[in-house]
Amino acid sequence: MHLAPDPELAAFRQEVRAFIAANLPAAVRRTLERGGRADRAELTAWTRTLHARGWAVPHWPQRWGGTGWDPLRLMIFRDEIQRFPAPETLSFGTSMLGPVLYTFGSEAQQQRFLPRIATLEDWWCQGFSEPGAGSDLASLTTRAVREGEAYILDGQKAWTSYAQYADWMFLLARTDKTATKQRGISFLLVDLRSPGITIQPTRTIDGGAEVNEVFFDSVRVPAANLVGEEHRGWDYAKFLLAHERSGHARVGLAKLRLRLVREAAGDLLADPGFHRRLVALEAEVKALEMTQLRVVSEERRVATGASDPVASILKIRGSELQQAAAALWLEAAGPDAQRWTENDDGSDAASAWLNLRKLSIYGGSNEIQRTIIAKTVLGL
Ligand SMILES: Cc1cc2nc3c(=O)[nH]c(=O)nc-3n(C[C@H](O)[C@H](O)[C@H](O)COP(=O)(O)OP(=O)(O)OC[C@H]3O[C@@H](n4cnc5c(N)ncnc54)[C@H](O)[C@@H]3O)c2cc1C
Repeated sequence: MHLAPDPELAAFRQEVRAFIAANLPAAVRRTLERGGRADRAELTAWTRTLHARGWAVPHWPQRWGGTGWDPLRLMIFRDEIQRFPAPETLSFGTSMLGPVLYTFGSEAQQQRFLPRIATLEDWWCQGFSEPGAGSDLASLTTRAVREGEAYILDGQKAWTSYAQYADWMFLLARTDKTATKQRGISFLLVDLRSPGITIQPTRTIDGGAEVNEVFFDSVRVPAANLVGEEHRGWDYAKFLLAHERSGHARVGLAKLRLRLVREAAGDLLADPGFHRRLVALEAEVKALEMTQLRVVSEERRVATGASDPVASILKIRGSELQQAAAALWLEAAGPDAQRWTENDDGSDAASAWLNLRKLSIYGGSNEIQRTIIAKTVLGL
């Protein structure tokens, strides 16, 4: 790998950094610097600021508002957003559904939904997991039965992040009970204001309510909201999950968390044992950054839309390092960590430590990622 600094990329990084510095409200930056999250109004305003600059959906095709940047520029952009820190756009629309729609959606679906994702006019959530279908997603039992020009939807989703804010959900439902597990699934777009939908918060270990159960009782979904072909939803879901995984290294966030540790540590930095562990973690984050750079450089040679199993390595390491940084933050906070307030925005050491357990579970658990590496990279 050639690591000599490229002046054009350095200038690009500077341009992104300067734009964020000039346009992100200081209050939002402060919230994120504490480890907290932007609220809906702040995220919407920031998404529109990015959109006005042409940067809300940089990875999309130019026809739909993308920038045409190569993978290295996309990586630098994401890294700068995370480390500044500035809010990332809502991934359910921009990183998950968007690519599915511009690849497999009808022209009418693309025209209707893509521009509204790019400006966060519509808040999307992801309805894949169910009580009996997480890692083994193809076991899902929510069913959609075709009746004339609509599907009638019955069943339940679980762990739906931010469904309480969402306008729409993209989901997987079984449309053919007789087919093999993966074959009879379809990908539907559901307006959450439809009659028959109940959303119930699930209280998590940090005391927050970022995830929900969503129940469907004879919900009418227009047949025009089927994405691609009926019964082929599994293929679209696999495509989407490959997209989701490639963003999971989150090196910028690991850097931010280590900054929080340094700030909280104070006198502890003079303790050789603590200092050694902090520096070792910083070196690990640097190593992940190098690995990410190698993977992203090679991405240029991977056909668009093809899944890249090496991304599983980034997901595992990225989640482990963020969790390790959160553990050090907890240690640095010492007795202060006991004064935490129950919340799910990770804005203090204790709630962050608890909340970040999720990183090795969602987006395909780390055990599942290891199996992918074993099979597809190591050939075991
Ligand atoms: C905070 C949070 C937010 C989430 N948001 C969403 C969302 O917005 N939308 C959505 O659809 N889902 C969401 N999920 C669900 C998430 O995708 C699932 O939790 C995940 O896929 C794991 O499924 P499960 O919880 O059913 O656990 P299980 O699949 O039951 O796994 C339990 C344990 O067994 C291990 N395991 C399972 N199968 C294997 C295997 N074959 N080999 C080795 N080990 C295995 C797992 O790694 C895990 O440790 C979210 C989850 C969390 C925690």
